[in-house]
Amino acid sequence: MINQQLLKPSGIVIVGGSDDVRKPGGKVLKNLLDGFFPGDLYVLNPKMDEVQGVKSFRDPSGLPDVDLAILAIAAKYCPETVRVLAREKNTRAFIILSAGFSEESEEGAKLENQIVEIIDEVNGCLIGPNCIGFLNEHYHGVFTTPVPKLEPEGCDFISGSGATAVFIMESGMPKGLSFSSVYSVGNSAQIGVEDVLKYLDESFDPATSSRVKLLYIESVEKPDLLLKHASSLIQKGCKIAAIKAGGSEAGSRAATSHTGALASSDMAVDALFRKAGIVRCFSREELTTVASVFKHKELKGKNVAIITHAGGPAVMLTDVLSNGGLEIPEISGPKADRLLEKLSPGSSVSNPIDFLATGTAEQLGAIIDACEHDFDFIDAMVVIFGSPGLFPVFDVYELLDKKMQTCKKPIYPVLPSVINVKEEIEAFLAKGRINFPDEVVLGEALVKVFHAPAPAKPGDELKDINHEQIRNIIEESRNGYLVPEKVQQLLDAAGISQTREVVVHSREGAVKEAENLRFPVVMKVVGPVHKSDIGGVVLDINTRTQVEEEFERMIQINEVKGILIQPMLSGIELFAGAKQEPKFGHLILCGLGGIFIEVLKDVKASLAPLSMEEAGSMIKDLRGYGIVKGVRGQDGVNEEQFAEILVRISNLVKIAPEIYEMDINPLLGNRDRVVAVDARIRIEK
Ligand code: ADP
Ligand code: MG
Repeated sequence: MINQQLLKPSGIVIVGGSDDVRKPGGKVLKNLLDGFFPGDLYVLNPKMDEVQGVKSFRDPSGLPDVDLAILAIAAKYCPETVRVLAREKNTRAFIILSAGFSEESEEGAKLENQIVEIIDEVNGCLIGPNCIGFLNEHYHGVFTTPVPKLEPEGCDFISGSGATAVFIMESGMPKGLSFSSVYSVGNSAQIGVEDVLKYLDESFDPATSSRVKLLYIESVEKPDLLLKHASSLIQKGCKIAAIKAGGSEAGSRAATSHTGALASSDMAVDALFRKAGIVRCFSREELTTVASVFKHKELKGKNVAIITHAGGPAVMLTDVLSNGGLEIPEISGPKADRLLEKLSPGSSVSNPIDFLATGTAEQLGAIIDACEHDFDFIDAMVVIFGSPGLFPVFDVYELLDKKMQTCKKPIYPVLPSVINVKEEIEAFLAKGRINFPDEVVLGEALVKVFHAPAPAKPGDELKDINHEQIRNIIEESRNGYLVPEKVQQLLDAAGISQTREVVVHSREGAVKEAENLRFPVVMKVVGPVHKSDIGGVVLDINTRTQVEEEFERMIQINEVKGILIQPMLSGIELFAGAKQEPKFGHLILCGLGGIFIEVLKDVKASLAPLSMEEAGSMIKDLRGYGIVKGVRGQDGVNEEQFAEILVRISNLVKIAPEIYEMDINPLLGNRDRVVAVDARIRIEK
């Protein structure tokens, strides 16, 4: 597991180090030299005594003890080298750049296992194989370029793909994004993305650790670990953004053909990220922009002032922010008038604050000061300032940097003229600043970060759930769909209220029970799974004759084993359900029932266990929430009860993980009650 020998080695040996910098073994050595690695550096190469000016050993026997080995030799030679170094040279950290392991063949997988075994034996650490390496402020242990700026307050970045890691760094660097550490985990033979995150959590030091973590994941292998440590880090004040590739079906195929990653169901990933408080991104550009937003002061409210010397970008930014639920509030009143006096004629302060193409550094300073001190309702500023190339703008960016140091409100710089004022932007970035070259990309990231949920509270365990009864029913049932009586018993045991119902097998029985329940009633076939589709549900039955007629008709339908009678209820149709997701546990789903679920696919999913709060926000996040709440004088649904049912389902599947899938569709809800009228439960032991 991750150790000091990896993070801050006193010595490094490059196994397969070469003079040819177009080879990994040559390039990684060059990077270490270019990065002025301060410790001892050696090469192991059977043909050389010196490589790039570094002492090379022809065989390991002469080599002194060394903390870290970086291997760039053919896979088949790796186990033996690792063995010698681990056993004889006290080497406790290994980075294996070489490919040809489990990603390639059975044989490769065997080699990989051997290596892990040897390293585990000495309690050592292995990064890779099949990766680009590792980077931090102490050394540049990668065979790729570019090497980004490395500093403790930069981002910790963990990537499941080496090439993608390079591209993500390349996306971040021109913006000014720096890194604290970069882990390319390759085949994750010993250490995967989740394990690194665990380490970052357990070793987190509020005084020195970076607060921004970025992940690129192709396959979530240990969802529990990811959830636990991501939530924990976020609770400690960190921000995490992640790309999980391979969500769509075509995407899954791509991931499979890549490092043999299998895509896990995307909905579960989404639910996991939301529960942990991870901001999910879908592109490199988005990931590095969200990271850049994280590196600024926190946006604490909705109100943004857009400060610009050009109209177009301000309009585009206004659109994206307000579509995303942020606001560009109008600025007016005596203080606004006083600000306007300081600007050139024709300027506008109403927000966007436009100080025209002739805008100066001094004017920008006045505007920022007013937004910071006079306009209390403003929570953040975006400053858009480029150049048509007529004169330099060093003074403007210098002022911007100074104001960013002193202002309490976040200021996001949009410096679009990456060609016209390239030097000015470079000078700005050299101060440790970040640039958002595109205002819309920034706007989308801001919206995303602003709406990102906090890590979910622990699930609620309800006391009135009949554990024993639930286990009994599961034990005595066989795989497949449960019969209505069993479904009813399970829902009862879980405290989920459902309508009264009876199953009858004769015409006389039907009439008697219908009268007992009181008209109007509903009759349904028992047996077939989808009842309406085959004419197996009749609503609003009001007379004895109707009951008799329907009984005679329905009992003839194929596979029908009896007839279910329920009172006819009214209410808004809701949906609640659960689905087992391999490795992730159960997803709990909710939505509006009936056509909403089928046509509009308006469902929200969360990972069990749920808290009442989380269940409540699932309901509020539905597109059709307005209907749940009640629209235009129409009564809504008792949200508290609906949320409680979701929590009860979450409790139920915890006690009975054998529930493979269940759905209650619909529940009928009004202000007073939410009652199940149709439920299916399938178990798989
Ligand atoms: P299935 O889903 O197998 O077709 P349901 O039992 O869900 O059968 O019934 C179909 C529809 O009939 C429901 O979506 C609901 O609109 C309505 N319905 C079912 N039971 C009742 C009831 N007791 N009161 C009022 N409407 C009902
Ligand atoms: Mg139904």
